[in-house]
Amino acid sequence: MIAQVMLNTTAKKLNRTFDYHIPENLEQFISIGTKVMVPFGRKKELEEGFVTGFKQASEYEVKDIVTLEESLTEKQIALANMMAQKYYCNVADCIKLMQTPGTRSKQNKVQEKKIQTIYLKKEIEEVEYDMQSGVIKSEKQQKILQFVKENEGATIPEIELFTDCSRAIVNTLIKNGYLEAVETKVDRNPLANKKIEHSQKYVLTDEQQHAYHAIERAMNDKRYEQFLLYGITGSGKTEIYLQLIETVVQKNQSAIMLVPEISLTPQMVERFIARFGKEQIAVLHSKLSVGERHDEWIRMKENKAKIVIGARSAIFAPVQNLGIILIDEEHDSSYKSEATPKYHAKDIANYIAKQEHIPVVLGSATPDITTYYKATKTNEITMLKLSKRANHAQLPKVEIIDLKEELANGNHSMLSMELYTAIEKNLKEKHQTILFLNRRGYSTFVMCRECGYTVKCTNCNVSMTYHGYENKLKCHYCGKEQAVVTICPECGSTKIRYFGTGTQKLEQEIKKQFPNSTTIRMDTDTVTKKNSHEQILNTFKNQNIDILIGTQMVVKGHHFPNVTLVGVIAADSSLNIDDYRANERTFQILTQVAGRAGRGNLAGKVIIQTYQPQDFSIQAAQKQNYETFFDTEIALRKQLKYPPFCDIIVMRFEGKNEEQIKILAMESYNQLYQALKNDETMTVFKPMPAPIDKIQNRYRWRIVMKGQLTPTINALYHTILKGIYDQNLKDARVTVDVNPNNMV
Ligand code: ADP
Ligand code: ZN
Ligand code: ZN
Repeated sequence: MIAQVMLNTTAKKLNRTFDYHIPENLEQFISIGTKVMVPFGRKKELEEGFVTGFKQASEYEVKDIVTLEESLTEKQIALANMMAQKYYCNVADCIKLMQTPGTRSKQNKVQEKKIQTIYLKKEIEEVEYDMQSGVIKSEKQQKILQFVKENEGATIPEIELFTDCSRAIVNTLIKNGYLEAVETKVDRNPLANKKIEHSQKYVLTDEQQHAYHAIERAMNDKRYEQFLLYGITGSGKTEIYLQLIETVVQKNQSAIMLVPEISLTPQMVERFIARFGKEQIAVLHSKLSVGERHDEWIRMKENKAKIVIGARSAIFAPVQNLGIILIDEEHDSSYKSEATPKYHAKDIANYIAKQEHIPVVLGSATPDITTYYKATKTNEITMLKLSKRANHAQLPKVEIIDLKEELANGNHSMLSMELYTAIEKNLKEKHQTILFLNRRGYSTFVMCRECGYTVKCTNCNVSMTYHGYENKLKCHYCGKEQAVVTICPECGSTKIRYFGTGTQKLEQEIKKQFPNSTTIRMDTDTVTKKNSHEQILNTFKNQNIDILIGTQMVVKGHHFPNVTLVGVIAADSSLNIDDYRANERTFQILTQVAGRAGRGNLAGKVIIQTYQPQDFSIQAAQKQNYETFFDTEIALRKQLKYPPFCDIIVMRFEGKNEEQIKILAMESYNQLYQALKNDETMTVFKPMPAPIDKIQNRYRWRIVMKGQLTPTINALYHTILKGIYDQNLKDARVTVDVNPNNMV
């Protein structure tokens, strides 16, 4: 017998199977999904691969499979094949997500009391560029970066063990700014020693019961069905998840529950532990070391852990006898992966649920426009609505302040009179305040008043941002820093001004206006270590800090009973981004931010400052009315032809050599144009430099397409990509992204 083996490699040209002979003594142990070690080419070391098919004979002279290791299931191999086709990547890229972490070595895991855990210091994209473009030449460095990329939070011994490289190389990478070491306390499992009281289930309200029974029926009938559980925060969605999971576990089945990484707080997990105990719960998040993740994986495979709570990639958890998939805050953009494979967890959930004949439950207070569309205008998704708050808490009062009027009245500060007075009152009453601003740093850009010169990053063609505390300019794309400019390099003028606002500037202004208040800031500058997001929120809550100032990150996760005031400094910043989802994002963020106010017994107040008070997404957020927002937005989408009425496909070309990138883009465009010129459902736009046309000295071009992504067009993309891979270009990178999160 001949096995068709897919090697575990990211090399695009090796994304195909190779034939190997199965020695007689191994025959009975090999099936589709078995992991095997095989000789390949002239390499001395054996390569890892997976059996994806069989045939009677091979037209080639074949080598023997040498050894076997742990296996995937036939279903997982099928899923990986589907993903490679759908997301334009290697099958091996997808298999990686399903493999038990750290199984490349059979040795025992190293356990230490006081440990340093290793994280990427640079952005993943940047590390990938440097690896692929040859900035990092050392094979061992590459190996370690690859490993850390997939296993953030690994310890140095684990890295040594699983990559077979010495710690000296890890240290070099730390020195060169690619990795950072974080001292971690022994507490490997923060919940291990915690006493959590058991919680009883509630008697469901009528609305909750209706929703619960609809989903239970699908489970009893062993039927795939997709549900939207639509209800405002506090309407009792989580209670329904808990009771569904209980039913599933009683039938000796398991459940996967996805939550956005940032919402995966101890508080959230504790609620599940209080109901089900620690024993049968596995929690998968990025803070786990590879050793811990390995343990959790094994507990799931052995059917000890039946309830999996985790971020995006937990959808690949190897649980036994899956009974239900729940996706909380289903609108969250973190469910779409921005790295290869660029999968959407919702797609994978539906694929698996169809295979297993089980329901998928999507929960949200502000559903994705596409989800809501499918739930109200088509039969694809069943709508289950919760219209009341289960605990009868009051919705906060939301006010909109027109910043144009403030300016006209001579108020140039970042705080309107209204917000200033509200903060003052809140400080007196010893209640807490959250101020939300969508921009970090001090000001957004630096400009010469005389000639209009702005300081831009030479690597990235984007404006540099002033950071007050360090008194430096920083590029938010590549991290480049430079000294502040006092004399214009273009015209010599000294009239350099700082425009816009950022979290740092806001904090300084608050300190000036309320000198006796305590403040804490949360943005990507203060949240550097993996734990720190949680720590900042805990400090804010436990030490009763007066004012929390932050970006997006403040809107999720915690429950702050003492917060009675939420101020949005400028709601416009998310409205003006170049993205068809700008309105949707604005509405979601504002609704979520508003939900932070007055969740305890105290009534809450929300003040939204904006230059566009008439904008419909802001108005709908004020009324916390998703339906009116949806009605306007869906009409716009239909008129302008955006999802759900079509797909937006972006083909990206990136590389150091601008000419080569441009030629590749033009050639691809010609192919697309020839193939699609008579296709009325798909529009191909001319190749253009991306809105940010250079990042990290890599030039970026793109082709945007709008239409129905049919199997024929999917195949066309694969043909074009293969043609480019076959040219063996050293540095150029081409990717296809369907409905990307980010249009830049
Ligand atoms: P959501 O997940 O929609 O935000 P939760 O499930 O967290 O809502 O419920 C909000 C609050 O109401 C929680 O404190 C929860 O314990 C409580 N709750 C939920 N369902 C009920 C119920 N049927 N009876 C009484 N309290 C409930
Ligand atoms: Zn100038
Ligand atoms: Zn830059």
